[in-house]
Amino acid sequence: MAARNRPLRWLAVLSIAALAGITGAARAAAAAGSPGRIVILMVWDGLRPDLVNAHDTPNLTALENAGVRFARHHSVFPTLTLVNAAAMATAGVPSSDGVFGDAMYLAPALDMARATAIPSVGYLLHDPLNLENTRYLLALHDARAFADGVLTLAAAGQTVANSGGYVAVLGKQGPTGMFDPEFASTDAAGDGLFVSDDIAAPPAVAAELGSRPPVTMMHPESIAARDAWFARIVTERALPAAKAASDAGRPSLIVYWQHNPDLAQHLAGLGTQVALDAVAADDRNLGAIRKAITDLGIAGRTDLIVVSDHGFATVKAEVPLARLLKAGVLKGDPDANGMVVAHNGGADLVYLPARLEPPERTALMRKIVNYAIMQPWCGPIFSDDRVSRPTHNRNYRGFIAGTFSERAFGLGGSSRSPDLIVSFREFPDESNQGLTGPSNRAIVIGPNVEETVANHSEALVRPIEGVIYSDAPHYTTGMGMHGAFGARELHNVGAAIGPDFRRGYVDQLPTSNSDVAPTIEQILGLKRTSGASGRTLAEALAGERLPAAKARPVTVSARAIDGDRSVTIAIHLTRYDGRDYPDGVSIERVVHH
Ligand SMILES: [Zn+2]
Repeated sequence: MAARNRPLRWLAVLSIAALAGITGAARAAAAAGSPGRIVILMVWDGLRPDLVNAHDTPNLTALENAGVRFARHHSVFPTLTLVNAAAMATAGVPSSDGVFGDAMYLAPALDMARATAIPSVGYLLHDPLNLENTRYLLALHDARAFADGVLTLAAAGQTVANSGGYVAVLGKQGPTGMFDPEFASTDAAGDGLFVSDDIAAPPAVAAELGSRPPVTMMHPESIAARDAWFARIVTERALPAAKAASDAGRPSLIVYWQHNPDLAQHLAGLGTQVALDAVAADDRNLGAIRKAITDLGIAGRTDLIVVSDHGFATVKAEVPLARLLKAGVLKGDPDANGMVVAHNGGADLVYLPARLEPPERTALMRKIVNYAIMQPWCGPIFSDDRVSRPTHNRNYRGFIAGTFSERAFGLGGSSRSPDLIVSFREFPDESNQGLTGPSNRAIVIGPNVEETVANHSEALVRPIEGVIYSDAPHYTTGMGMHGAFGARELHNVGAAIGPDFRRGYVDQLPTSNSDVAPTIEQILGLKRTSGASGRTLAEALAGERLPAAKARPVTVSARAIDGDRSVTIAIHLTRYDGRDYPDGVSIERVVHH
């Protein structure tokens, strides 16, 4: 749909390149006729750092040892795929890039009379919509919804394409759509590539690629074949095209997003053979990409960044929050009619009816919070007062007792901000032994009693620590989930190797998925995305000075009291260079006598 803009964009590219769009390195490279830099961003969806070792992931371990290992890498909360794809692509956080979940309720941010007229997606906008779907993202890229796409900040793919660079985005549908909302076939030179599970562009490429290996949820091992198919597009098409672009002095960005181990961990469970095999398959794809870089003779101009979008945990029990609220504390409450809960596994986004005046809204929020926060399944709750100004960003406490401020955590103040974000509780040190495996009891928390259902996870091979309560129908006890504010989900994998990175370096400073785009843009010599929250990871770059600033731990807490019971929720952060990197939560529940 952006094809109509191509002549215009091409003109814009020429003028931007001549003026401000390309800075330092890229301009120098083009002027000197030297090769353009190539950056590959390879994402292993849902890989936990503790699953990386010489036995299971020899290629990733070798990369970490020879290049940079980001020892304290962080996912952006909510620890969900699209939230972190948006953060990686734009250097933003939800309040600035507009992406709060995989399932988002967009109605509050839309003119619904116009938006509901959009074919194929409009009628779905009355409810939360799962945006892990390129066709929905394309359909919402419409003047009646979001004229510039669902993202509210420029994505790295666009920045590179606008500078005249080569862009290829390949892999899992949804997150790939965050990197180039115009889908890279429309880049200035017309040689870009976008291939996800659900679309391929340009159309001529789709025909050449043939059909994708089938993926069936009943056979999680089938996902590895799909990821390997995408890896072959990286090695056989994207890398040779990037080399050609590089030879012409153009920068290149290749994004390759693997489904695994996320899908295998969701469906079979952490520590099952299927999940362990999935990690091994990802590692073989990494090996194939590194071999292709060597074989093409481009190792001296290619940087390879490997990250995961979020960590993972095992489902302890299902918590159907909307059902519990409607059957309990909100039963018969007319103000609650029209409340929408977008469930996202480890975190739920709660939207109250737009018609409510501030006092009624606050009263309803208080009712929900006072109930939820006293439950054993509840983690930190974030609230948006819709009033405070950004200058109050360091005021961590929310305006409802017991909650944290959405604004202080990059979540508040957007027209898409939920009134409440409820994170479910994670127990980072509890093992999944006794949860994962078909013979274990699976639990759904009901309004009055715990219901027992069939456990759909597979046999446990290697116990893994970290369990959570979660709101995701069909993901039973023992299966895998993420999304919560907890140490096992907030800590993820980061590593890099190539001419621009230090060698044999362990980065002990806190780093985040929001820092990926500024680092890529620095390497490619492009201008920093405006509105960015992230920083350039200068300490990991060759030839840059090590910073003098120190990181320091900070704990912020919120407390709620109900009769003789109290709960204190403490959030642990690392503060560095003016930024907060979230590390985990501790919760203390006390009954006073
Ligand atoms: Zn993910």
